[in-house]
Amino acid sequence: MTYLSVVVPVFNEAPNLGELNDRILESARGLGREFEVIYVDDGSTDDSWTRLEVLQAENRGVVRLIGFNRNYGQHMAVLAGFERVRGQVVVTLDADLQNPPEEIPRLVAKWEEGYDVVAGWRENRQDSILRKLPSLIVNRVAAMVVGVEQHDYGCMLRAYSREVVDQINHCGESTTFIPALANTFARRVTEIKVGHSNRSMGRSKYNLFKLIRLNFDLMTGYSLLPLHAVSLLGILIALLGLGFGFFLFIRRLIVGPEVEGVFTLFAILFVFIGLQILVTGLLGEYVGRIFREVRRRPRYFIRRVVE
Ligand code: UDP
Ligand code: MG
Repeated sequence: MTYLSVVVPVFNEAPNLGELNDRILESARGLGREFEVIYVDDGSTDDSWTRLEVLQAENRGVVRLIGFNRNYGQHMAVLAGFERVRGQVVVTLDADLQNPPEEIPRLVAKWEEGYDVVAGWRENRQDSILRKLPSLIVNRVAAMVVGVEQHDYGCMLRAYSREVVDQINHCGESTTFIPALANTFARRVTEIKVGHSNRSMGRSKYNLFKLIRLNFDLMTGYSLLPLHAVSLLGILIALLGLGFGFFLFIRRLIVGPEVEGVFTLFAILFVFIGLQILVTGLLGEYVGRIFREVRRRPRYFIRRVVE
């Protein structure tokens, strides 16, 4: 029976794959148990797939491949891997060698202590400040919506027990953020510090726009908290407006009519108009997601599988 499954999403990582595979195999072999590595090609446009096929041919019975017809994003790729895992413990990691494969045995050892999720925490994260800042927000949002505090939700170097992976497989949602989803199912969650390296080859696949989308997915995907928050805000503003109106009425009685401060009023108005647009947008995000789920299209298309 397979003990460990390693799931790796791959999007245009051709120059990294050889070293990555060597290091994963070496590290997993050290455990002395049966394992498999599943590479999910997320519609790469470089020669990642050809390289993966070579690696698969060299390591039959250990390396398995899944290829999408186009790019669906890192989390969809990991989900496709999850649906096919055979191991009791599932480790995910990035293909860009930023997550050292040598950490796999440590994650697995921690999992053996009886945790459902063992999260990696990149204490010395080797990324630019522009990449780290959005992650800070992701962490806060995730902690808020999931209700589990963790230092590093963005770290994909994690171990999950098979039960959690099976529960994730039952979800079938088309926008997701796996670390957050897993934590909503897990009973016992822990984290360990893991290493993190510079990206030596290729570049980060996340731009600011993708990160903002991810944040919206996270916020709207796991709770109605944003809706509750804006409703409360609306009530608060209405009450303030009411109080202000009352104040003006009394003042009118005492001081008489006055027309100063018109432009201040404009400023205040713009703030509220902005808020209103934001709230409409937020509602739109939910509606859009409902639309996507109702449409019931498959989340991704798998073009080829090599076992
Ligand atoms: N990735 C993917 N599909 C995408 C974007 C990224 O499969 O659309 C993979 C990528 O190949 C890598 C991992 O997800 O293995 C993390 O991506 P990246 O290193 O670009 O992100 P960062 O390290 O900046 O968070
Ligand atoms: Mg990376």
